[in-house]
Amino acid sequence: MAEQKLSGRVALVTGASRGLGRAISLALAEAGARLGLVARDVAQLGATAREVRARGATAEIFVADLSREEEVKRLETEVAAKFGGRIHILINNAGVNIRKPITDFSLEEWNTVVNTNLTSVFLMCRAFVPRLRGQDYARIINLTSTMSHVSIPERGAYSASKAGLLGLTKALALELAPDGITVNGISPGPFATDLNRAITEDPQSNHWFVSRIPLGRWGRVEEVGRLAVYLCTEEAGFITGTDILIDGGWCAQ
Ligand code: NAP
Repeated sequence: MAEQKLSGRVALVTGASRGLGRAISLALAEAGARLGLVARDVAQLGATAREVRARGATAEIFVADLSREEEVKRLETEVAAKFGGRIHILINNAGVNIRKPITDFSLEEWNTVVNTNLTSVFLMCRAFVPRLRGQDYARIINLTSTMSHVSIPERGAYSASKAGLLGLTKALALELAPDGITVNGISPGPFATDLNRAITEDPQSNHWFVSRIPLGRWGRVEEVGRLAVYLCTEEAGFITGTDILIDGGWCAQ
């Protein structure tokens, strides 16, 4: 078994029911962390929890819609009860995308994207930063995006939310540095998760996408998991306020 660099750490991962959140949870479990898994789909959360436990780690599941203030407040109480108030690692990964021209967006659709991708991270940090403080170690990682840095048509709400999240990441890094809490972004893209199903199920735009990735392939979710683990290790303790692209060279073009 690999060295368990996160042994004794308690990690809360949002959007842990599938995709990148599931992969990050499994990687943290292999590194020895205890996991709190958050999303809305209890069956899929249960499946991730079983995979975490199969790696010898403990997992608790928490069902919450993180775009709703009252559900984040309830989550904070439930997590504190399960983990005795101690949280070391907060991974804000839950996210959604609605792709369409700006003139076709309803306000409700815009709010769904912004509330899920950006406002939820504000709500989670407001709720959990007090539980990260006062320890000799704590980490926050926000899943930003290539679309925090560049954009393409029909990504108005998504890019706005992810660019906002990058700004929030930097502001929080400065605000929480005196507490010894590091705050960083991971900007993935593109990975063949449910988020990108509309693209992977359309061979033509799949080809358009892949032909524009300098490394010529989709990312592997495990690659994001390993990067998240690295940012949580002691070795990464001087890294804060930055954002790491893991995009096969996409944004370098
Ligand atoms: P995914 O497979 O669609 O998974 C999204 C996760 O977010 C699911 O676990 C979902 O769980 C959860 N979620 C969505 N809305 C939620 C809500 N209101 N409350 C609680 N949980 C919610 O997407 P992914 O590709 O793994 O993406 C993970 C993160 O990486 C997102 O922030 C995404 O923007 C970012 N990202 C992904 C890519 C990529 O290429 N895949 C690229 C750049 C950035 P439930 O449905 O069970 O609630």
